[in-house]
Amino acid sequence: MSRQKINKLLIGTNNEGKLREIKNLLPKYIKIRSTSEFNLKSPRETGKTFKENSLIKSRYFSRKSNLICLADDSGLEIDILKKRPGIYSARWGGKNSDFKIAIKKVYRELYKKDKNWKNKKIKARFVCALSISNPKKKIICIQSKVEGHISNKPKGNNGFGYDPIFIPFKKKLTFGEMKPSLKYRIDHRSKAFKKIKKFL
Ligand code: IMP
Repeated sequence: MSRQKINKLLIGTNNEGKLREIKNLLPKYIKIRSTSEFNLKSPRETGKTFKENSLIKSRYFSRKSNLICLADDSGLEIDILKKRPGIYSARWGGKNSDFKIAIKKVYRELYKKDKNWKNKKIKARFVCALSISNPKKKIICIQSKVEGHISNKPKGNNGFGYDPIFIPFKKKLTFGEMKPSLKYRIDHRSKAFKKIKKFL
């Protein structure tokens, strides 16, 4: 399949931190445009999966701007919580996306499920879905993950979100304790960007 190379791309997020992180993961020859240039509000994330939500965002922003758009959706799945918080990961932090609140909710829910959870390995994973759409159709939609377990207390001040409570498979430190350069080498987001690079 031969396709034209993408050399201009809108990043479908109103989150400045995410925009910066995505810019760093993309090839430097691509000219990045942001939603703030078009004064666009984010669409409601009404999908049932990470992939659906990333597509809702990439389609919406692409149609509104008439540019090719890349959008992501990510979150933490915890197996004994039936994969929650999942697509609700950001929303567990409340209106202000306060991650101390979100982490407390994770611990409260784990305790409700199993009073002895701290003595067990609680399997979890971070998931990242990425999609690219043009105004007419989807170009690509993929998903990557990093497996691990939940730490029985929050550790480390690096990263964001649920990083202080996630220990990746075969590692001793949480993402919050790890150097960012190590986290980026193994996490769900960088794996997803590796997969999508061949479509750029
Ligand atoms: P999104 O903006 O809807 O994709 O929200 C993703 C949410 O998932 C974030 O706000 C975090 O709560 C969580 N999340 C996703 N990736 C990570 C990560 O790498 N570390 C910690 N939390 C993450």
